[in-house]
Amino acid sequence: MKGFRDILPENIEKWQLLEETAKSIFKSFGYKEIRTPILEKTLTFERGVGDATDIVEKEMYTFLDKSGESVTLRPEGTAGIARAFIENKLETSVFNKLYYIGPMFRYERPQKGRFRQFHQIGAECFGIKNPAIDAEIIFINKLLFERLNIKANLEINNIGCPVCRPAYTKVLIDYFENYKDSLCTDCQKRLYKNPLRILDCKNEKCKIVVKGAPKLKDYVCKNCQEHYNSTKEYLKALNIEYIENDMLVRGLDYYTSFVFEFTNTITLSAGGRYDNLISDLGGGNICGVGFALGEERLIDMMDAKVQNNIDIYIANLSVTFYALQILQILKNFPYSVYCEYSSKSLKSMLKKADKLNTSVSIIIGENEQKSNTCIVRNMKSSNQQTIGVEQLENILKGVFYVT
Ligand code: ATP
Ligand code: MG
Repeated sequence: MKGFRDILPENIEKWQLLEETAKSIFKSFGYKEIRTPILEKTLTFERGVGDATDIVEKEMYTFLDKSGESVTLRPEGTAGIARAFIENKLETSVFNKLYYIGPMFRYERPQKGRFRQFHQIGAECFGIKNPAIDAEIIFINKLLFERLNIKANLEINNIGCPVCRPAYTKVLIDYFENYKDSLCTDCQKRLYKNPLRILDCKNEKCKIVVKGAPKLKDYVCKNCQEHYNSTKEYLKALNIEYIENDMLVRGLDYYTSFVFEFTNTITLSAGGRYDNLISDLGGGNICGVGFALGEERLIDMMDAKVQNNIDIYIANLSVTFYALQILQILKNFPYSVYCEYSSKSLKSMLKKADKLNTSVSIIIGENEQKSNTCIVRNMKSSNQQTIGVEQLENILKGVFYVT
């Protein structure tokens, strides 16, 4: 199906490395995982993400379930987590730093780095006003890129809040009205509904008009300005470099004041503050900040060198009871073991062991079973020796720990 892909075993190591690295970084900052349903009521996204956004207008997988209720495959993580936060009264919980990993769905035109089912890793922090939390979120993002050896530039902007944005929106509409005919059809439609989105339209004609547009930073209120300035100070304290990009707006309506993106030719991750999302969804007056990264885009940039490593291959030459016995012994130790159960020739078994990238093969046939021995073959050097089963532990220690 267009835009949907299988992630196959030969590529899984990168996915696991990415997700395990992210999990360990989140853990090290005291973040707890949250898992919310993939299917939500459509209203959660209409209210949360905003009904004048591209996501809600064009990109959602929405359908009626058998009871006639409109439901949607989640196009992003934050709105569902905010819904869960409200429903489960998480404001009373100490766990207000959360992370998630999972699939998202958007009906977009598939192309490089853009799929209809894609995967995000993200984090959300609720109820913390201090701009230091915005800096912490960026710090986590940056650490993850560093650990994975991925280069990315940080761009930041201040997009104001419901106090200051309406005045700006008004001057922006006034400005764009003068150039209406030069805008693409999408932007002409956006003009009254969501004029901020025109600022990051990719259309070349729109880009020219946008160059002369009034800047939001000249209209932001004192609170937004102070918050933004403090965030920058905290970023400096963490030695995190950034570029201020006053054209940076996000595609989701819930963002307020501080927003950011990490880019390397394309956007790798993005996030910001959403101080009104919880109240827009019917919860209390609780602020939030978060980010999400696209796993597919990061995986594209990761070194291809991550290898699967199965430590030991049991070449079982039709002595399955004995093979199981050896498997059981080996499970007292931390090795990964692939035990063969199909009858193949020794040659093809060793070929398979090579393909599995194993370090050692343990070859057993009738003779070995009778004498309670096995042949241990070092797959790198092709040296092999027959040993008593009781010697296995020591021999393997020699291979795996003394090199
Ligand atoms: P873009 O401008 O690239 O469409 P966006 O503003 O829609 O991004 P967000 O909703 O903020 O993106 O999602 C955060 C990240 O998720 C993006 O930076 C990107 O890495 C990834 N992402 C978004 N949409 C897709 C998609 N259709 N396929 C793959 N990754 C995606
Ligand atoms: Mg998008």
